[in-house]
Amino acid sequence: MKKLGKYSIGLGDRFGHQGNPQLRAIIEASRKGVEITPVWNKSNREHQIIGTQPGDVRIEADSVTKNAEFRKPYFVDADHINLDTVDRFIESSDFFTIDVASFIGKRAGETEIQDFLASAKRYSDGVDIPGIKRPARCSKAQLRDIAEKYLFAAKKAGEIYRKIESGKGTGNFITEVSMDEVVQPQTPVELFFILFMLGTEKIPVQTIAPKFTGRFNKGVDYAGDPLKFAAEFEADLLVTSHAINEFNLPENLKLSVHSGSDKFALYPLIVALLKKHDKGIHLKTAGTTWLEEVIGLAEAGGDALDFVKEIYAKSLEKIEELCAPYSDVIDINVNSLPSPGEVSGWNSWKFTASLRHDEGNPDYNPDMRQLIHVAYKLAAQKMDTYLRLLDEHKSVVSECVYDNIYKRHICKLFDIK
Ligand SMILES: [Zn+2]
Repeated sequence: MKKLGKYSIGLGDRFGHQGNPQLRAIIEASRKGVEITPVWNKSNREHQIIGTQPGDVRIEADSVTKNAEFRKPYFVDADHINLDTVDRFIESSDFFTIDVASFIGKRAGETEIQDFLASAKRYSDGVDIPGIKRPARCSKAQLRDIAEKYLFAAKKAGEIYRKIESGKGTGNFITEVSMDEVVQPQTPVELFFILFMLGTEKIPVQTIAPKFTGRFNKGVDYAGDPLKFAAEFEADLLVTSHAINEFNLPENLKLSVHSGSDKFALYPLIVALLKKHDKGIHLKTAGTTWLEEVIGLAEAGGDALDFVKEIYAKSLEKIEELCAPYSDVIDINVNSLPSPGEVSGWNSWKFTASLRHDEGNPDYNPDMRQLIHVAYKLAAQKMDTYLRLLDEHKSVVSECVYDNIYKRHICKLFDIK
């Protein structure tokens, strides 16, 4: 069976130009003793917005790893797929993130619910998870609530998994199940029963992405109480460990953190808990690399700076359209966004200081950063110019990408000094 390493990172690379500096960061971490499996991930939504094909990601990952003589495992993730969108990913992907968020809350048939309640009967006195204070008795009503909320989604995950399995063959791919793009977080007890359901469906899930407490907005730091997050994260770690034997799931089952880039307030807490419980993690970094492309071009100045200023001005005009697909994962205060007139007068220094994720810089503007995060569609609409500028300013852009992934993310998350 293909097996994902203990630590892995989802490298988001919207335009397919930054595979090299991102891989360099992985190689540097290995030199410092931390082995991280790179996973190129791109969702159907991103492919549609940019106009790329799943096969493009495979070509990039293969060529970048070959050029760097990288001989360790790496994967290509069909991110956030479901029954309707999975087909075109089957050939080129070997990692599938089955997204069941839209099925949560839909009710399974009464016979299926009854079957689940009968098989979960042994937990009706409460769930004993080593390390966790015994949760309150799961009353019949609570178990029924969980079944009504999640059973249909778990059945759908099974259906999607079997579709992928029939295309790729058993054991030839990694399976993740994601539930992060919903409004309500899942509690550790809910996670326990979701894993029970996935085990019943015989899905060899290696990573699971719950929705955590607090806001995981794209490209900016965590919004919420980090200590509350830590308590929940620790309980989720214990739940996954316990679920492995209890439900016969893969022994490397681990948590996946989506919209995981830039959560600098959480990384020290996460690393401490991973060490404490000897667990692995998968962290998806999505669009943070596209933001570094914009920062690099701003730093380059001249027509590259003009180009990104124009992207910003357009993003203000199209703010509603750009934000709509990301409503659960962004939080923009429009009153804090500078006007296009103001930005047009900015130099490279001011633009990069506003956009770069450095909380210590008084010019840093997380609202502007989130807006640019979702504005990659506008660069895709001027693809020729954008790619020409990326090529012309390759060295400055790739340094920004490398520094961001290596110093701000990998070093902080894996405690590399
Ligand atoms: Zn996600």
